[in-house]
Amino acid sequence: MAGGAGAVLGAALNGDRRALLAPQRAAAHDVTPAVTDRPIQSVSIEAGCISCKLCQDIAPQVFLVADDADCVVRPEARHHFVRLREDIEQAARDCPVEVIKVEHARAKAT
Ligand code: SF4
Repeated sequence: MAGGAGAVLGAALNGDRRALLAPQRAAAHDVTPAVTDRPIQSVSIEAGCISCKLCQDIAPQVFLVADDADCVVRPEARHHFVRLREDIEQAARDCPVEVIKVEHARAKAT
C-alpha cells in the first residue's frame, strides 16, 4: 500500500515511529510469550504494508522499506535468521498492520 490512508499513516509514523509505537511494543513484550524455540525458516510480507519502516529500524539486515514502497525481505536475509531471531520476531509482533509472517521449522517427529 503506497497511497491513500496507508501512506498518510505511514508518513505520520515516519516522524517518530519508535516513540509512537513504544507503548504498543512494550505491551506486546509483556503479554506475548515465545511461540516456539524452533528456528526461523522463512520471513515474508503480506499485502497491506503501510511503509512505516518500523521493521527496518528493528532489523535493517532483514527488512528493506524504500521511500513510498512496501516493505520487502532482503534477498540475503536468510543469513541473519539465527543471529537476529529475536529482532525479526519483535518486528513481526510490533508491525502495526501485522503483515510480517514468520515461519518456523517444523518440529521433528519423535
Ligand atoms: S511490514 Fe509492517 S513494520 Fe514493516 S514497514 Fe510495513 S507496516 Fe511497517
